[in-house]
Amino acid sequence: MSVEKIDTLVVGAGQAGVAMSEHLSNCGVPHLVLERHRIAERWRSERWDSLVANGPAWHDRFPGMQFSNFDADAFAPKERVADYFVDYAEMIDAPIRCGVEVKEVCRNDGRPGFRIETSDGVIEANNVVAATGPFQRPIIPAIVPEDAGISQIHSNAYRNPEQLPEGAVLVVGAGSSGAQIADELLRAGKSVYLSVGPHDLPPRRYRGRDFVWWLGVLGKWDVAALEPGTEHVTIAVSGAHGGHTVDFRQLAAQGLTLLGRTESFSDGVMHFATDLADNIAKGNANTLSVLDEADAYVVRNGLDFPEQPEARVVGADPQCVTDPILALNLVETGITSIIWATGFALDYSWLKVDAFDDAGKPKHQRGVSAEPGIYFLGLPWLSRRGSSFIWGVWHDAKYLADQISIQRHYRAYKPSD
Ligand SMILES: Cc1cc2nc3c(=O)[nH]c(=O)nc-3n(C[C@H](O)[C@H](O)[C@H](O)COP(=O)(O)OP(=O)(O)OC[C@H]3O[C@@H](n4cnc5c(N)ncnc54)[C@H](O)[C@@H]3O)c2cc1C
Repeated sequence: MSVEKIDTLVVGAGQAGVAMSEHLSNCGVPHLVLERHRIAERWRSERWDSLVANGPAWHDRFPGMQFSNFDADAFAPKERVADYFVDYAEMIDAPIRCGVEVKEVCRNDGRPGFRIETSDGVIEANNVVAATGPFQRPIIPAIVPEDAGISQIHSNAYRNPEQLPEGAVLVVGAGSSGAQIADELLRAGKSVYLSVGPHDLPPRRYRGRDFVWWLGVLGKWDVAALEPGTEHVTIAVSGAHGGHTVDFRQLAAQGLTLLGRTESFSDGVMHFATDLADNIAKGNANTLSVLDEADAYVVRNGLDFPEQPEARVVGADPQCVTDPILALNLVETGITSIIWATGFALDYSWLKVDAFDDAGKPKHQRGVSAEPGIYFLGLPWLSRRGSSFIWGVWHDAKYLADQISIQRHYRAYKPSD
């Protein structure tokens, strides 16, 4: 059987794979991108129907192309985001092959490069870039048994309120996904319980600028990973309904019940930690710290931005915060479904190389792995806070293309006599 050969194989054609292709082309590196489904598939089939980008269109994009026919300050619906990457791939003429899954990558014996088993034959490559996403495998903590008589789904399987059975719903996790889903369910007339863990809570807009701008000028997106393995802290932010600051107290005022971190379940009763007030307070402290830094930036740069003192007003804690529910009998409360907005794990079971630590986490520096020729892209905190986001992955891809190019030059060197 003939074996196809390519210098660099990129696995996955989400935003990371598309960005990688652009920079590899710019460096003159022959490459191929394999995508098991369609370009930017996760934006189409692993997000809820009403999802819009968390950042405005002027920001949540690559430098080389704007969203066409779309207000730059508005939040692009998920299908528009996916279409954007399809258009971008076309614009840069990215060599993407869709419908091909990478099944296994192994190191060649006694010669350079890797052997890649795919659903469409074998490929050999000198380099492999794993661009299979920051959020690969949904995690549902083993808290409520499957036979507990309650519908349980992960946030990546949530589509819309109509999908849920009649009755109240418990949303576990209050990052961007959990907070937005809970809000949508509340607006749809559902009785909603929201279990809130630690989170960052940037103000949506302050003094006439969106938070993405503030985090940009304040250098927050570029905060470097303190050490390999820095964990992702969830940011509670929403672009829904024109974009607004996530306000847990406001949600409570509208009838939603806030709960602490979900801890355990026994005999039909869910138990919650006593950390609710603390989590809410820390989220507000995070908001205020951003406002303080923003104000200092305005003064330092002599900017004529309108004052916004009301942004600092924090409402009184609702009763569910001051007198938190620590145990809830789900059936008696009428809760018929649970949505676990509890994050994702990585799954590199196809990558059979020496690039992982004892806990199975990728071992790398800015995406350059411990196994020469293997690169990671798109992971949370790969190099900085922005690494898993649209605008951040593009810069990480540029760095990796440079590294691949440097190694190609070394390998091409021949002594001059
Ligand atoms: C609900 C949600 C909302 C988000 N909103 C925003 C936002 O507004 N702005 C922002 O900047 N970021 C946002 N993100 C974060 C991030 O932008 C997305 O997670 C984005 O999808 C990551 O892109 P990626 O290319 O790194 O990975 P993915 O989009 O996960 O792409 C990886 C691709 O690899 C393919 N693949 C996987 N395994 C294989 C294999 N073995 N062989 C071949 N192909 C394979 C998959 O099919 C997939 O298409 C959001 C994330 C979530 C979960």
